[in-house]
Amino acid sequence: MKTHDDVLRGRSLPGLLLIDGESVPAVSGRTFETIDPATGKVLGQVADGDAADIDRAVAAARRALEGPWSRFKPIDRQRVLLRLADLVEAHFDDLVLLDILDMGVPIGTLAPRRTRAVAMLRYYASLAVTLHGQTIENSLPGEVMTYTIKEPVGVVGAINPWNSPLVLSIWKIAPALATGCAIVLKPAEQAPLAPLRFGALCLEAGVPPGVVNVVPGHRAAGAALAEHRDVDKIAFTGSTEVGQSIIRASAGNVKRVSLELGGKSPNIVFADADLDRAVPAAAMAVFANSGQNCLAGSRLFVQRPIYDQFLERLAAFTRALRVGDPLVPETQLGPVVSHHQMTRVCDYIDKGRAAGARLLVGGKRLDDSAHANGYFIQPTVFADVDDGMAIAREEIFGPVICALPFDTEDEVIRRANATSYGLGCGIWTLNIHTAHRVMRRLRNGTVWVNCYNLLDVAVPFGGYKMSGYGRESGLEHVEEFLHTKSVLISVQ
Ligand code: NAD
Repeated sequence: MKTHDDVLRGRSLPGLLLIDGESVPAVSGRTFETIDPATGKVLGQVADGDAADIDRAVAAARRALEGPWSRFKPIDRQRVLLRLADLVEAHFDDLVLLDILDMGVPIGTLAPRRTRAVAMLRYYASLAVTLHGQTIENSLPGEVMTYTIKEPVGVVGAINPWNSPLVLSIWKIAPALATGCAIVLKPAEQAPLAPLRFGALCLEAGVPPGVVNVVPGHRAAGAALAEHRDVDKIAFTGSTEVGQSIIRASAGNVKRVSLELGGKSPNIVFADADLDRAVPAAAMAVFANSGQNCLAGSRLFVQRPIYDQFLERLAAFTRALRVGDPLVPETQLGPVVSHHQMTRVCDYIDKGRAAGARLLVGGKRLDDSAHANGYFIQPTVFADVDDGMAIAREEIFGPVICALPFDTEDEVIRRANATSYGLGCGIWTLNIHTAHRVMRRLRNGTVWVNCYNLLDVAVPFGGYKMSGYGRESGLEHVEEFLHTKSVLISVQ
């Protein structure tokens, strides 16, 4: 088995900003360290973009938008996206190795990401040639022809979190390319490597310089993009708190905003559920990606008659999970992304204990000699959690399940909805009437019935309430990147 040092030996990692088709240092000359969360070691230095670099990138995007990119017909944009899909497929192992090293995603869990990454690019390629307006019958006096056309919204600023660097980059860049927009992506400071490499692949696929720019940096770079007067739209994924500041920053030029924000999703198991399926799925609804998942079904409501049995099985499943080095094929949970995130999650675990929740499994970081330098946390299950506890109300973004017993359908719907978030939710029941009834009453953007965490590129995804607005995936996604222009022509 290769160690992290073996994998890094002789490999050059991306470390410069990608602006106007060139790899360049930051105007300030500053760099920051990117860290391997499995070892705590520095992987490399990355140029630290700030407002001056965002200015350069936005100017390059505007030039490209008004220049060569505007002459790309839908079929040309489709060709580029299809080439990009082929390149991602061919270079996937190399690309995703950057995610393994930069944020700790386990190598053995990558097959679905490969499928998803390539499928996304091919899906948006198909949309590139199907975008169209409508001819509309009207009731105006005289002969007037009315129709709409779709136009790219313009320069898009995209800001991402760390939890799935490659796939989140594709999720922002592919719809921009399909619709003819130009884009400046500010990836998360914790995991900038795969987004930079993907930006370089866009050039290789034939995307003209300046259409895709990637500017790693910190809060200041994101804020500069959100405030920028020459950015037409911000597509943001991240915390609700930062989402709120994006809305405020967007007011300056009333730019369009779409927000994929946080969650505290309920996963509801009724007494008639198929427990053989529900137990492992409920565990992985939180533990996948070490809990760093906006969709995590972290409020696990279990109906009283099966509560004890369910928790016993959940605890056994959790104890058997393999936590460790993401380069080991058998590993199911890697580290969390940073020391800061590990401390934050461990603080929540302490709060849960102090508030009186019953710790069933886990509850500690791994501090044996093999793991002590990395940021590993045991998958953790709290039982008998009270709705009012911080661990039941706030997004932990780590491998922590809060199990809560419930008695009746009305009660669980009321409690599931009693949150400011509304991203996803799960329902486990073999009764189709229960499934339909409960699904309609839950205030969430996505409902899974007898499954969890399934995402498909053709199915819209997004939040209700403070989980954000706008949709990614599906036809609704490209609408976020398009203007509708109405045309009225007198034909008399
Ligand atoms: P974060 O909001 O702290 O940071 C996200 C990005 O915003 C980073 O690139 C960061 O540099 C940038 N940023 C920080 N302050 C900014 C500011 N004032 N203006 C502009 N940009 C700024 O989020 P995080 O901690 O990196 O990620 C975790 C959060 O992301 C969780 O809340 C999670 O639920 C959410 N998330 C949501 C989805 C979704 O699709 N709904 C997907 C993944 C993650």
